[in-house]
Amino acid sequence: MASGEFDLIARYFRGLGACRDDVLLGVGDDAALVLPAPGEAVVLCVDTLVADVHFPLDAPAASVGHKVLAVNLSDLAAMGAQPAWALLSLTLPETNDAWLAEFARGFSALACDAGVALVGGDLTRGALCATVQVGGTVPPEQALRRDGARVGDAVYVTGTLGDAASGLALWQGGEPRRDADAVLIERLHRPTPRVNFGTALRGIATAAIDISDGLAADLGHILQASNVGASLDVDAVPQSAALQARFPAEQRLRWALAGGDDYELCVIAPPEQEAALEAAAQAENLRLTRIGVIEREPGLRLQRADGSVVTLERSGWQHF
Ligand code: ADP
Ligand code: MG
Repeated sequence: MASGEFDLIARYFRGLGACRDDVLLGVGDDAALVLPAPGEAVVLCVDTLVADVHFPLDAPAASVGHKVLAVNLSDLAAMGAQPAWALLSLTLPETNDAWLAEFARGFSALACDAGVALVGGDLTRGALCATVQVGGTVPPEQALRRDGARVGDAVYVTGTLGDAASGLALWQGGEPRRDADAVLIERLHRPTPRVNFGTALRGIATAAIDISDGLAADLGHILQASNVGASLDVDAVPQSAALQARFPAEQRLRWALAGGDDYELCVIAPPEQEAALEAAAQAENLRLTRIGVIEREPGLRLQRADGSVVTLERSGWQHF
């Protein structure tokens, strides 16, 4: 990008987010220097949001800034990691001060909230696209991996599912919006990563994953990695009051099981940890629902309370 690149970085991105003692060198040099505490593993992940694929081109810029960080923090939460540092790679079709200021505002608010320092990045010209890499820390033996689920463990989810998928339908649908729809659209544009609950799961959960592609698909990853199966009571899968008031039951169930973008956590834990798990959720004022059980027989079985079986033609979102 032209000479304005350095001005833009200085104006919008230098010093963004939390101020951290473990950042020895942040934005401005060839690369950043960070110093994790002794004995902590560094947990790294990256996620890209492409305009028109991951967010509508007309999505509010502050929401895009929030969401591109939130989806990464959600991955850290699912590892039980404490977030610390972020790198931001931004591709813009043109420099648009109003858009950049709003994007930085959305990013910064969540970064400060989560204790994350923006330590570097990149700025290029092209089709609108934002990539964030985050680093967090966790004692290596306490990381929540996908391969730890055991037969007899219970399956839980945080929050409510299906809201974001309904929000996308409402945003794209063109049907007249009702006042209450704002709640569902907000769930799409501004997901809440379950950061504190994620770290609270250390030593309690046997496995965890964040629900980005849909419950069935994401739980499926845990089952595969852990070499187990599961049965879910689909009627127990929590749905928000806003969703229930707006859409028919069949549609809601599809979204709750296979709609993406909710960024809630699916948590696997042994039955004897139920009280500890509930206390952790309560401390975060977070809804936590037990929806099923891990079994020896491979595969995911979706059952209604009346015993009938639910099948999905598409278990989750896939790009390819
Ligand atoms: P280089 O040419 O060495 O890759 P850049 O010109 O890309 O350096 O970046 C200069 C400095 O500004 C680096 O420290 C980089 O991390 C930081 N930086 C660039 N873009 C961003 C951004 N979007 N957000 C935060 N820091 C950025
Ligand atoms: Mg660069």
